[in-house]
Amino acid sequence: MADFEITVIGAGVVGLAIGARLSKNHPHLVVMEKNKKYGMETSSRNSEVIHAGIYYTPGSLKAQLCVEGRTALYSLCKQYSIAHKRITKIISASTPHELPKLEPIFNNGTANGVSLRMLTKDEVLSLERNILTAGGIFSPDTGVISAHGLMDFFHHSIIENGGTLQEQSTVVGISRLVNKDYEISINERGNISSFTSEIVINAAGLYADSIAALSGIDIDKAGYRLAFAKGSYFAVTPSKAALISRLVYPVPQNEGLGVHALIDLNGRLKFGPDVNYVEGPPFEFSVDETKRPAFRNAIRKILPQISDNDITPDMSGIRPKLQREGEAAKDFVIHHENDRGMSGLVNLIGIESPVLTSSHAIARYIDDLLYK
Ligand SMILES: Cc1cc2nc3c(=O)[nH]c(=O)nc-3n(C[C@H](O)[C@H](O)[C@H](O)COP(=O)(O)OP(=O)(O)OC[C@H]3O[C@@H](n4cnc5c(N)ncnc54)[C@H](O)[C@@H]3O)c2cc1C
Repeated sequence: MADFEITVIGAGVVGLAIGARLSKNHPHLVVMEKNKKYGMETSSRNSEVIHAGIYYTPGSLKAQLCVEGRTALYSLCKQYSIAHKRITKIISASTPHELPKLEPIFNNGTANGVSLRMLTKDEVLSLERNILTAGGIFSPDTGVISAHGLMDFFHHSIIENGGTLQEQSTVVGISRLVNKDYEISINERGNISSFTSEIVINAAGLYADSIAALSGIDIDKAGYRLAFAKGSYFAVTPSKAALISRLVYPVPQNEGLGVHALIDLNGRLKFGPDVNYVEGPPFEFSVDETKRPAFRNAIRKILPQISDNDITPDMSGIRPKLQREGEAAKDFVIHHENDRGMSGLVNLIGIESPVLTSSHAIARYIDDLLYK
């Protein structure tokens, strides 16, 4: 018999959500985390937005799991008092020239089952009188959440169900044994040891392709090799934070949703994230002062009252992407590797936005993949 029934690699929001869901019926579960505490990587370096599901290709995992996850997240937040706010959002065309771009976004969101409303310029201004706008789309179901509150909840559930979280343990090897269990080698502060597990779920975020490679998968052939896109934020001085009362996004230009205005649960206003492909690992998280002109231009299109003196470089996060710079967006890979002769191994690759929103739905999806 294996030491554990299930091993989840990575204690970001995804690994924790999966751990919380599966430990209910399978308490012989361990979540392995290389850092000294859970949730120290991408899951604590993001916009903390509960996305409605507007932009993703209809029928894609991104779209389905976002819509399911958003509904599930609001109920979870209500039931367990996880800090959140249904703050709502406007996608604003800053000039009449941008107005025709709203319709395809509206149609895409509607096809995903998201409730949206087209707004005239006056209707936008009646909601947000300070923004530069020619018209927009209103999303009543967009919210903000405490990512740490959500992860604390999932962590608590794992422990309550009898599961284990093992921090400061880096997975350094995965091999398949003759009896079809997996042997997992870990490095705990310089000491190498190993244990066995029937099921292995790779939720290692920025390192998910390396973990898949450890199991013997050719990640180039499988299309699992990740590219990395950094997203930086600039914070706005508190005296200007009350200029808006909900999230305001521009019409997306190239990659990403466009630098937008975010208000967190503490009422802080910031702008971001931009998209900048970087090399790694290791990753560098400082926010470059040279980005100031680009941020100034993006901010001016939403809130022209905010001047250069009102913004300071803030935080950044890095997205693990399956597409390279300039390529069309790709869907998540959530794959049970039984077709590669590795039943019991599930890889989650390219788990970028909107996965804070989708985490609970991803856990349900994995449960079905393994046990239905
Ligand atoms: C700039 C930015 C903004 C975003 N905004 C939003 C948003 O507003 N709303 C939304 O829904 N989503 C958003 N996202 C996406 C969301 O934050 C991520 O998709 C989500 O946090 C990914 O969680 P994860 O658990 O997969 O990854 P992570 O949080 O990176 O967790 C993976 C964990 O695996 C661990 N690990 C890695 N390798 C090993 C190993 N060998 N051994 C043991 N442990 C290991 C890591 O230490 C890490 O803790 C944003 C992302 C970015 C970058």
